Amino acid sequence: MEFDLSPEQQMFQRAVHDFCAAELHPYADEVDRSGEMRWGAIRKMPALGLTGLQAPEQYGGAELDSISMALAIEELGWACGSTGLSLAAHNGLSCGPLTRWGTPEQQGKYLTKLTNGEHLGALALTEPGAGSDLAGGVQTTAVQQGDSWVINGSKAWITNPKFAPVIIVLARTDRDAGTRGFSMLLVEPGTPGLTIHPPEKKMGLNGSPTQMLTFEQVRVPLDAVLGEVGRGFQQTMQTLDGGRISIGALSIGLARAAFEAAVTYAQQRQAFGKPISDYQAIQWMIADAALEIEAARLLVLRAAWLRDQGRDFGKLAAMGKLKATEVAEKVCHNAIQIHGSYGYSREFPVERIYRDQRLMSIGEGTSEIQRMVIARHVLREQGD
Ligand SMILES: Cc1cc2nc3c(=O)[nH]c(=O)nc-3n(C[C@H](O)[C@H](O)[C@H](O)COP(=O)(O)OP(=O)(O)OC[C@H]3O[C@@H](n4cnc5c(N)ncnc54)[C@H](O)[C@@H]3O)c2cc1C
Repeated sequence: MEFDLSPEQQMFQRAVHDFCAAELHPYADEVDRSGEMRWGAIRKMPALGLTGLQAPEQYGGAELDSISMALAIEELGWACGSTGLSLAAHNGLSCGPLTRWGTPEQQGKYLTKLTNGEHLGALALTEPGAGSDLAGGVQTTAVQQGDSWVINGSKAWITNPKFAPVIIVLARTDRDAGTRGFSMLLVEPGTPGLTIHPPEKKMGLNGSPTQMLTFEQVRVPLDAVLGEVGRGFQQTMQTLDGGRISIGALSIGLARAAFEAAVTYAQQRQAFGKPISDYQAIQWMIADAALEIEAARLLVLRAAWLRDQGRDFGKLAAMGKLKATEVAEKVCHNAIQIHGSYGYSREFPVERIYRDQRLMSIGEGTSEIQRMVIARHVLREQGD
């Protein structure tokens, strides 16, 4: 692996950083308090490719490599956790599967809307009784009746449905076929029988809507299947592998924002006659944070690079996500520590960033599940 970014990747990173610094970073607190996304900024994102990072150019996407995708999501996370999560889900969980498995008709109909800066996409996997164990727990069914699929069930904790022109839904299409009995279906909000419930009240990421969905006799046409009937579970696992790169990148962005705030504060705050940054205890926290952020970023970018090479990246994506989310937790914890009481106040950004990052070790596969994935890879490799 090259140990530096290409000139194009560096230019793109700088452009996204400048955009985020101007359009999102100063407003992150307002987004958290109001619970409202900054649509004025999102509408400007297509010019940089942020609303279709890896979607085909013919449908308004930027067709970027995975490293550039990770760099962009890191910058979004650095600027605003809520916007970062919604854009990560939009790109990885919605545009991603449509790009990979959509027919030209599905791509023409939905990707063009998803990349235009007016909407954000959603993928509904989780249910009230099924998160980590989707294969065992998903109860939502889609049954073929005449020229329709009829969907019944409920989904929980779904990012962006209120902004989505289409929601990708994982449902059981054959109860007796195990992991071959799932399919992904494209459901448009407004379809009779689909209820999108009000956003959950959460600890953080308050600008990113997380909603429950219920399906009562929801009818969609037979060609609303995304990819192949019976391949929905495998498609889900592949989507989550990619999603882990972006949640890793998002976590690094959050950690970096808290770290930068802590370094600035440590140089300004005086105790016992000098800046607290002069004390070794503070310096060690700063040094550890700098080291761990760099280490986590290398893992995430290596996973992205493997993906770009068409190589197996599942283990590295799980490692990158696990490392980056644990680093974010530690760095944000210490950023508050460095701020003392001010860090515990809503007046300083580290309090919000700490709340925002807490989701990262839960969403798109908990840390426990990442360890299971890594162990499975290692045991398989050793067994070969
Ligand atoms: C803000 C937010 C946004 C989200 N966005 C989306 C979205 O867009 N789409 C979507 O489909 N979902 C989304 N989710 C849901 C999220 O992906 C799930 O909550 C997550 O996968 C965990 O599932 P769970 O909450 O059911 O936990 P559970 O699976 O019930 O796990 C509970 C605990 O048990 C542990 N555990 C479970 N199984 C094992 C095991 N075999 N060994 C050891 N420990 C185990 C877990 O690690 C965890 O600590 C979102 C959630 C939140 C909070």
